[in-house]
Amino acid sequence: MTEPRPTGDGRPPRKRTPRVGEVVRTSRITPHMIRVVLGGEGLAGFPSGEQTDRYVKLLFPPVGATYGVPYDVERIRAELPSDQWPVTRTYTVRAWDPVAGELTIDFVHHGDEGLAGPWAAGARPGDLIQFMGPGGGYSPRTDADWHLLAGDEAAFPAIAVTLEQLPPGARALVFVEVAGPEEEHADVLAAPGVELHWVHRGQGIPGDALVAAVSAAPLPSGRGHVFVHGEAYAVRALRGHLRATCGLDPEWTSISGYWRRGDTEDRWQATKREWNARIEAEEAPVGS
Ligand SMILES: Cc1cc2nc3c(=O)[nH]c(=O)nc-3n(C[C@H](O)[C@H](O)[C@H](O)COP(=O)(O)OP(=O)(O)OC[C@H]3O[C@@H](n4cnc5c(N)ncnc54)[C@H](O)[C@@H]3O)c2cc1C
Repeated sequence: MTEPRPTGDGRPPRKRTPRVGEVVRTSRITPHMIRVVLGGEGLAGFPSGEQTDRYVKLLFPPVGATYGVPYDVERIRAELPSDQWPVTRTYTVRAWDPVAGELTIDFVHHGDEGLAGPWAAGARPGDLIQFMGPGGGYSPRTDADWHLLAGDEAAFPAIAVTLEQLPPGARALVFVEVAGPEEEHADVLAAPGVELHWVHRGQGIPGDALVAAVSAAPLPSGRGHVFVHGEAYAVRALRGHLRATCGLDPEWTSISGYWRRGDTEDRWQATKREWNARIEAEEAPVGS
């Protein structure tokens, strides 16, 4: 393969460094949540960070790909047709242990559809996976009077990391939608000051129960810092409730869809910018 093409302004292309993780072990932490622990030399130098929503972009080559791990993503994109490019899936860093060199990711196993969920279900020690990152954008503000953390199973890893990092005694309202009681995580304990509500979806549409529970909850007085993520339609409804109805300061809210029902991550990410722009426009006061 040839070197990646230079950018239009003559500068060398920005090199995004992919890493390779090797599956060390896996476990079912609930019937539909699979924990995969990655290790190996490819994780050396993975940065520690304060953001509690840190995520990585896992790369999945298409079936029948002519290349194997490790591969040069930039070169593949420069030289192969797009149906040969690896596909990305975004996952939260549930834990990074720099001493053991182990990166933990919790995957929702939402059925046989998709790439990442089924990959996690079939992952075995020694399997390799390439990924980019980490990125991230949220950590709980220490000057907040209270915190609201709300989401579904996909957002729970970030909520769990946040709970582990809240200062002792911090006040937090936490709502997590899961299918039923069997999906509640036993390993996350609510500290004093934290009200943890498991919201059961049952046979309902993903996100409906979460929207109902959060919308019915009285918010404490004072300044709240908000983290709401999960299924995109539910997140949109909660954003309207929290910003428009409750009047929370947008600067103090981290609210966005992690996935959208009926869409793969590719389709969701491709339309996310437009989706967010439309929501912003709907929220803008008339005449602005
Ligand atoms: C910043 C960020 C962090 C994330 N962190 C995590 C994490 O730690 N753990 C995690 O499990 N997910 C996480 N997600 C969500 C995850 O990226 C998506 O759920 C992704 O679509 C899963 O990829 P897939 O290949 O399994 O399914 P896809 O191929 O993307 O989708 C196949 C089908 O499954 C549906 N689907 C996708 N996700 C779900 C779901 N959670 N429940 C029910 N149906 C679904 C789709 O709508 C589609 O119909 C995160 C997303 C973002 C943006």
